[in-house]
Amino acid sequence: MENIYGKTKEDLEQFFIANNDKKFRATQVIEGLYKQRVSDFNSINNISNNAKELLLNNFSIEKLKIITKQSDKDVWKYLFELSDGEKIEAVVMNHDYGLSMCVSTQVGCNMGCSFCESGRLKRVRNLETHEMVLQLLTIEEDLDKRISSVVLMGIGEPLDNYDNVIKFIKILNEHKGIDIGIRHITISTCGIVPKIEKLMNEDMQVNLAISLHAPNDSLRKQIMPIANAYDITLLMDTVKKYIDKTSRRVTFEYVMLSGVNDTEECAIELGNLLKGVNGYVNLIPYNKTSSKYEKSNTYTINKFYDILKKMRINVTVRREFGSKVDAACGQLRSKY
Ligand code: SAH
Repeated sequence: MENIYGKTKEDLEQFFIANNDKKFRATQVIEGLYKQRVSDFNSINNISNNAKELLLNNFSIEKLKIITKQSDKDVWKYLFELSDGEKIEAVVMNHDYGLSMCVSTQVGCNMGCSFCESGRLKRVRNLETHEMVLQLLTIEEDLDKRISSVVLMGIGEPLDNYDNVIKFIKILNEHKGIDIGIRHITISTCGIVPKIEKLMNEDMQVNLAISLHAPNDSLRKQIMPIANAYDITLLMDTVKKYIDKTSRRVTFEYVMLSGVNDTEECAIELGNLLKGVNGYVNLIPYNKTSSKYEKSNTYTINKFYDILKKMRINVTVRREFGSKVDAACGQLRSKY
């Protein structure tokens, strides 16, 4: 049986119509699941017995199992077990503007970025839409708090699980349901060009973050295998098209690896690459993993930042969260 949490409003409308019931049942079900937060179909307000019967016979309403929960200052990390026994992690961070959540999109990851822990386990499978929705619902229930923004920056490459991710975003954004504003949702990608092309035609105002991490191809290829498939000129041309088409500002993520991509020359090259592009650079202090890399020191990060600033590039340094519980960027893993 399919899990109800993977269904969009449109899916449910079609379902009820196909079963000779009313289209508006879909809204009632969505409100029951996400406003009322029922845990069984019988508790949904205002729906007929016939509709309850239909739901019971066609969908499961099973949640995710929390295996462990760890916390550090302003951060919680959850390990979940999926119904086939696979495990994934999700993280919630407490900001002054509310709670943001970092969700996983795959079990394992095939992108093989050399600095990232999440890819040590090759992709086992894509997450189903409901498994992404349930990361949020389960955590909200556990913390008894609402999450106000979502970043697709956990384990996995979101654009390598394209259809399920788009559905997930629709469900998050559904006004009658979870109702997280589209501008509070961010897809982060290592740069799968054809999927970025596809995304720009979805007519969605979702935020896009590009894991750039290097200002040229030779360096990028050293640390990110995806650079062999799509070179930086093609990637940048596609991102510029994305910006034109969506009028959204794009984020360029740049993990600072000591002695690798954090030199002054790199900063200048990056500044030139991004000149005139409507975006901003997010410098990410590297979180130590099992890789050979070391974190750039604060002086180097500040210098890099200053060079970009002087070149009139918008730049921020990512606040560090959760490294004590291995909950920081690139430290999540599927291996347990
Ligand atoms: N696959 C997506 C999302 C995953 S990770 C992507 O590549 O964008 C989110 C961000 O954390 C990416 O920019 C990723 O490159 C970065 N990251 C990975 N490992 C890291 C580490 N050890 N320290 C800091 N950032 C890391």
